[in-house]
Amino acid sequence: RVYLDWAASSPPDPEILDLQRRVAEDMFANPSSLHTMGRKAQEALHQAREKAALSLGTTTERIYFTSGATESNNIVFTSLLLRRRDGHVVTSAIEHSSAWEPALLLKRLGYEVTSVRPRSDGILTPEDVVEAVRPDTLLVSVMLVNNETGAIQPVREIAEAVRERAGRRVHIHSDVVQAVGKIPVDLEALGVDSASVSMHKFRGPRGVGILYLARQIEVLYAGGGQEWGMRPGTENLPGIVAGSEALVRAVRRREEGAEQASRLMGRLIEGLCEMKGVQILPEERLTVPERYSPFILTVSFPPVPGEVIQRVLNDAGFAVSTGSACASHKGKGRRVLDAMGIPEEVSFSSIRISIGPDTTEDDIEEFLRYARKELPLLMKVAR
Ligand code: PMP
Repeated sequence: RVYLDWAASSPPDPEILDLQRRVAEDMFANPSSLHTMGRKAQEALHQAREKAALSLGTTTERIYFTSGATESNNIVFTSLLLRRRDGHVVTSAIEHSSAWEPALLLKRLGYEVTSVRPRSDGILTPEDVVEAVRPDTLLVSVMLVNNETGAIQPVREIAEAVRERAGRRVHIHSDVVQAVGKIPVDLEALGVDSASVSMHKFRGPRGVGILYLARQIEVLYAGGGQEWGMRPGTENLPGIVAGSEALVRAVRRREEGAEQASRLMGRLIEGLCEMKGVQILPEERLTVPERYSPFILTVSFPPVPGEVIQRVLNDAGFAVSTGSACASHKGKGRRVLDAMGIPEEVSFSSIRISIGPDTTEDDIEEFLRYARKELPLLMKVAR
């Protein structure tokens, strides 16, 4: 099988799995326990935090381990519920559902929410975001790399512009899940108040993530005070240790991996463009490829429904997805592509292809060979 769904989850690194198992066996004591075994677990937790902090360009006291990016995003959004219920939130219209749905939750509970649409290239402008900021805005959330189009958002410029307009009053959040290990991520340089990371996107364990917080916030959780109260609950030490090591490796190999991905993505796009009627989304991808992650591509085969393409490819041994895996439960159409102004009949026929550092030239050639042989007929029949 050819796995082309790395943006949904990546195959775990065998050495990382091994490390995870060893920690689970050898360091099962509670890191909060005061005996020697507990202290050892506490020390391992601290070392993992140091590694994670270093890899993300920040310091240990700003790293909080969570159960994943969904939880990290939720902690930030729901923290507003402890303040007031009449504030305003600005979010991009292209956020992952784990940031988008919490915004909708706030809306249901009394907050006003403005969602800022990207331009047709899938990228937000700082001007558009700042324009949405009001005197009562409490939170601005814009992801760094979109998980469907790969569009890289100018988060640093957005943060600067929002600060200039509103100062420290506004909390600026960024979901950097699809950026870590793929494009340079220096959290301090990004200038945000919080950010979310997920370990299973770079060959680490599932169910482990990071919430970066430049300063602590009030959270809806109450418990044993772990993670300085930001995420109480006995720490998932095997996941945290293994995940932080996966993070170190992903960041160390980033440049090499991105170079290879750029080459493969270039070839993939070139091959797809040779097929009549196929549309790369957004089309700006062809003219300014450097503004997109080379690991993610959305492509449309009108008028065949994306689900059909996905199924046909699956039967032939290729794993791809229709948009975000997390949106596939909801049948809500293609919110992200809609926000970019892509016509429904085009977005309806799209699939997402995402690659990783282990994807080979052979994988891409095999995919292109199959796509060019089988999909044109499907497109003709569906017309
Ligand atoms: N944000 C983005 C951009 C993602 O792609 C994902 C993974 N689907 C998440 C958040 C959720 O991460 P997790 O699976 O760790 O909850």
